[in-house]
Parts: sequence; structure tokens; C-alpha cells
Amino acid sequence: MRTTITLRDCTTAGLTHLTIECARCDRRGRLSLARLVREHGADTGVREVWEALNGDCPRRDARQPWERCGLLCRDLLVVEGLR
Ligand SMILES: [Zn+2]
Repeated sequence: MRTTITLRDCTTAGLTHLTIECARCDRRGRLSLARLVREHGADTGVREVWEALNGDCPRRDARQPWERCGLLCRDLLVVEGLR
């Protein structure tokens, strides 16, 4: 079972930034963890934070799940690897 990865987990893992990319379009962003913690709080789940990020993606609300915009963050693999 997976638990939620919080911003604190990322900081603890030694990350300073999160690189978030979209699997379907060419959106890509690098977010400062320090800034995210300041804005959302350290206990906020990472996925919760970035859910707002693809608000303007044309595919975000595509009717079919396989057409829908999908954000992913490879940095989280590092965090999960520490568990
Ligand atoms: Zn997208």
C-alpha cells in the first residue's frame, strides 16, 4: 500500500527541486521545494500540490482516461526508494 508522499518527505530525501513533466504534452516544470513548503506547508501531499499545475492543459479533461493529461515526477522515485 502506498502512502502519500509529502513535501517534507522530499526535503528529507535531500531534494531541492521537483521536476514535473506531463506524459502527454510537452509541459515541464521545475519547482523549488523550499517555495512549495512556504506556500503549502510541509505536510501537504506532493500530488495535491501539482494537481493545480496542469489546470491549463488542453488534455486535462479529455473524456477518455488514456487521452488525459498525466503529470509525473521522476524525483519521487528517489523518495520512494528511501522507504
Ligand atoms: Zn498535459
